[in-house]
Amino acid sequence: MSSGFSIRDSIPCYAEEDCAGALFAAKWPDGFRCPRCWHSRYYDIASRGRRLFECRSCSHQTSLTAGTALEGTRTPLTKWFKAMYLMQFGISAVLLAELICVTYKTAWLINHKLRHVIGEQDGARPLEGSLQLLGEYYGYEYHRYFSDKLAQGALKPQPIVIGASLDQTGEVVHLKMKAVDGIDGTAVPGRGGSEDEEAVERFLHNHTANRGDFGKTELLQRSHRGRKAPHHAWLGVVRWLAWTFGGIGPKHLQSYLNEFCFRYVSGSRTLEALIACIGTSRTITYRSLVSARSGIRPIRWAFRQPERSRRHAG
Ligand SMILES: [Zn+2]
Repeated sequence: MSSGFSIRDSIPCYAEEDCAGALFAAKWPDGFRCPRCWHSRYYDIASRGRRLFECRSCSHQTSLTAGTALEGTRTPLTKWFKAMYLMQFGISAVLLAELICVTYKTAWLINHKLRHVIGEQDGARPLEGSLQLLGEYYGYEYHRYFSDKLAQGALKPQPIVIGASLDQTGEVVHLKMKAVDGIDGTAVPGRGGSEDEEAVERFLHNHTANRGDFGKTELLQRSHRGRKAPHHAWLGVVRWLAWTFGGIGPKHLQSYLNEFCFRYVSGSRTLEALIACIGTSRTITYRSLVSARSGIRPIRWAFRQPERSRRHAG
């Protein structure tokens, strides 16, 4: 890059004890609490090279990573913290593996465990207040140009709803991008009303505190792309996925969308917010990650098709 910025040179050198201190503060923001009896005092002990916290009341022993996103990890804390630092730039597992000197599989797992806690946190915080909603397709251009060469129905563009919460000055304070599907048993596509309304209602129901209240919701037109924050955010995520990963398949698409939105909302506080997340979210295993069904499959989409003249790199 001509700016001279190098991700490699920017990675901080973290000390193990600083990482442990940050994880401690994230896990126990109000000070130590025994997970069994909630007592607040402990003995700091070492066992086989591991630091353990022994409750002074019930003698229960717990580790710093137990119950966090890092539970069971064999990767040093310093590498986790470097990985969290690097997630601010939205890098791939290939590059992460090289930068923090771990295998590709470890890097992939770290990135996905971080995306998992981001998703957990996102799920606990619905959009509220004034909303802007935009319907889009992921992979539409790819589908449009190559569909005749692919097996019929093998690849369909994925419908996404982008939702933004705005504050009173119109600034985006929260953003979500969600794959909208009809296979979770909660929706009956095409039954009464327009499919547009179905998709929007489902999004409002699942991801906002407004529920069925359309009053504070502005539905954006795809043809106005580029005008409002959700249009810009959508362009940003599509470019990121294309340039960094060469596109993302349906299985893990949702977790990448969550990561992008997390970064978009957290801004310069991304690392801080990520550290807070890992301390309070439970981990997910590799087995669960690779077997997890994202619930994405081709369905009839609910928003208007883009104009034929539109040319936008997907
Ligand atoms: Zn205890």
